[in-house]
Amino acid sequence: MTATEGGWPTPVLHADLDAFYASVEVIKDPALAGKPVIVGGTSSRGVVTSASYEARRMGVTSAMPTSRARRLCPYGIYLPPDFDAYGRYSKQVREVFDSFSPVVEPLALDEAFLDLRGATRMWPGPEALGEALRREVKRATGLVVSVGLAPNKFLAKLASRHAKPDGLLAISPDSVTAFLHPLPVSDLWGVGERTAELLERLGLRTIGDVAAVPAATLQRALGTMGGQLARLAAGSDSRPVIADPPRKSVGAEETFERDLVTDAEIAQALLRLSDRVSSRLRSAGISGQTVNVKVRFANFVTLTRAKTLPREVDSTAPIFATAKALCAKAIDSRSTSPRVRLLGVSVSQLGEWPASEQISLEDEPRWSAAEGALDEIRRKFGDTAVTLGTLLS
Ligand SMILES: [Mg+2]
Repeated sequence: MTATEGGWPTPVLHADLDAFYASVEVIKDPALAGKPVIVGGTSSRGVVTSASYEARRMGVTSAMPTSRARRLCPYGIYLPPDFDAYGRYSKQVREVFDSFSPVVEPLALDEAFLDLRGATRMWPGPEALGEALRREVKRATGLVVSVGLAPNKFLAKLASRHAKPDGLLAISPDSVTAFLHPLPVSDLWGVGERTAELLERLGLRTIGDVAAVPAATLQRALGTMGGQLARLAAGSDSRPVIADPPRKSVGAEETFERDLVTDAEIAQALLRLSDRVSSRLRSAGISGQTVNVKVRFANFVTLTRAKTLPREVDSTAPIFATAKALCAKAIDSRSTSPRVRLLGVSVSQLGEWPASEQISLEDEPRWSAAEGALDEIRRKFGDTAVTLGTLLS
């Protein structure tokens, strides 16, 4: 065993927000507090994606058809999902996670693994860190997060599920067997309905039952999965927590229904793509220095061209100007007249900050002001409402 942290070898924390979408709706409209709130498709064929605990008490669960939920909970408040808001809250929660560990692996908008190796040094133990994280998420966002702590991912995720709602459960290395063995086999990672039935036929109902069978026997009965189940039933899982890789580029591409032929058509498409890329850069608060263009011709020959600019950019005008020049070069290198099937524009060599506003004010005051206004229009009317006609001339 390697070095221990408060008696734990490399503790893993699994954090899972309680009734995330429904809870965000309650924060948006505090009058909904204490009421059965159900987020999901509101049409007759819709499905529930999130339900407050008040709604769950009436039997509503996620993935249930909304029509069934309406019968169980006729006075519930049914809302369509607001993914912009969930994305914003998820980002804030992620910032809190990042302040507790340098190794955060997000699984969804509302859950993540944290590798606490080294992180617990400043705390009396993993539990103290877990409680501090729960308080900080609540303080920063108003959201409730449940936390599982365990020696590995499999156990940490099980622990957070058992901690819900609004709880923390720590499975220390010496309590793994006592926690795990009474649980049903369906709690083993990877065991669906069919495998559960198969195990049942072998007389194996609990995880403890599975742990008592020699691994070789399980392997004979279930193939490679048998080996995995034997390891999990013994409480071991060697999958590491993997931090999500930093973004390398921001791009947009389009395959056209009809091949593009004229310069004007190509310029129009490049402008649309450049505009999409710059708007993504700005909403992420980042910028980039290299502009890349991808051109695929009707015969599927694909060319890429790139150019590094003297400084980082995040506005449409310089991205479009560079993309247009690169694309012209790519097309000129072909002997025959072009039929363009696909175009892509991306920006790489990303910097963590927006392009310096002072510099862009000196060089191109019109762009920054105009594009702030365009972002505003896009927020109101969506992407397609905006065309940058002036840039084409
Ligand atoms: Mg959740």
